[in-house]
This record gives sequence, C-alpha cells and structure tokens, in this order.
Amino acid sequence: MARTFFVGGNFKANGSIKSIQGILDNLNGAKLDPNTEVVIAPPSIFLLTTAEKASNGVKVSAQNVFHKPDGAWTGELTTKMLVEHGIEWVILGHSERRTLFHETSELVADKTKAALDAGLNVILCIGETLEERDAGKTLDVCCSQLKAVADKIQDWSKVVIAYEPVWAIGTGKVATTEQAQEAHEGIRQWLSSSVSADVAAATRILYGGSVTEKNCKDLATQPDIDGFLVGGASLKPAFVDIINSKL
Ligand code: PGA
Repeated sequence: MARTFFVGGNFKANGSIKSIQGILDNLNGAKLDPNTEVVIAPPSIFLLTTAEKASNGVKVSAQNVFHKPDGAWTGELTTKMLVEHGIEWVILGHSERRTLFHETSELVADKTKAALDAGLNVILCIGETLEERDAGKTLDVCCSQLKAVADKIQDWSKVVIAYEPVWAIGTGKVATTEQAQEAHEGIRQWLSSSVSADVAAATRILYGGSVTEKNCKDLATQPDIDGFLVGGASLKPAFVDIINSKL
C-alpha cells in the first residue's frame, strides 16, 4: 500500500504575528509537491489565524492537547476546542513534552485516545535518548512508548508516528540514513507483530531531528521513511525544499 508522504512543521514556542505571516506567505505562494501532505503546528495562540490564512493544501496542528473534557484545567486546551475551530491535527508525545513537562507514556496514550475519540488526527512522537541508544535500547524504548498507546487504541488510521531520536532534536546531529531506516524498519516490524500487518503497512512513520533542506533528500529515499517532522527548519523558507524532498 502506498503511503502518502507527509511533512510536518513544528514551530514549538517560536514566532510572532509578523514571522508567522511570513511563513504562511511563503507556503501559500510556493509550488508544493501535490503528493505530499503538509501540516504546520504553530504555538496555540496562533492556531486560529494560521488556520484561517493557510491555503495551498496546508493543514494546521496543535502542539499538545488535554485529554479530559472542558473543565477546571487552567492553561490547557481541550480536544473539543480544537475540533470546533477546525484544527484537524495534534502533535502528542513530543520529547520536549515528555522531558520538560514530565509527560509519561501513559499520559501520552490517554491524550492520543482522547484526540482520536474527538476526531482529531495525531502525530505521535517517540524516540530514544543518546544514553538509551548507546545502551542498545533504541527499539525497546520506542516500542514501549508505542505499546502504551496500542494498549488504549484500536484504530490507527488517523495516527502518524514520528520517530525523533532525542539526541538529534535541535542539535544539528541528524541520524544517518542507515540509523533512521533501521529504527523505522524496527518500528514497522513491531507494529506488524503487535498491532497488525495492515496497520504496519499503512501507517506513516516520519523521521524528526535536525532535518534540513540538505539532508532530507537522502532520508526520503529510505523505504520506511514516510516523511518528516521538522522543527527549526520549518521556520525558514527552505521548509519548502523539505516538503518537496521527493521531487
Ligand atoms: P528540529 O526539531 O528539526 O529542530 O531538530 C524537530 C522536532 O522537535 O520535531
């Protein structure tokens, strides 16, 4: 089954009204590969204007969501709020949420279930630290992060997995094509044996971590790399080159 190439832009807590308008002008006016799905995730305060102004097929994602219904959760956004405002995607389990905000795999799974139940699409981030990689635990870590989610959801059709080695995020140290392909293949094998062969064949697995317009083309040639989740480079005009990495 052919998997549609997917490129996500995670702006993290970056941007101003002016700079986000500039990013949108650039994307709206660019020639984007029509065979690539593009989703950008601005900080939550910019979600609405971004959703209003994004064209050219570009969709908008939140960077996080709370897993409970509307209520006394100061500082949080609920799934219902995102859906009501036409936001179709949410990034969950990003390593910055896991480390800086102490989100456990169980919480990420609860959030994933709540988001899917509300009709959202989820970019589910997983990945190992350098220490875990050096200890040979890359796949153990990724698969245990996935298992927490697999224990709570049945339908994977609205989930895109982003494999983001923590040591490669924002560091300029991109995984080699071989390292990335090996991890993606292992993750797909795990999906096949632990969820189903159909889900393994259909689920997009993105690579994230210091992706740039320079390294994206090589990574994109790998059979199990179905796109990218891009941080720093998604704020720059060259994001278009990453979107077009299959051209
Ligand atoms: P980076 O971030 O591209 O800046 O390394 C990727 C991410 O955190 O999703």
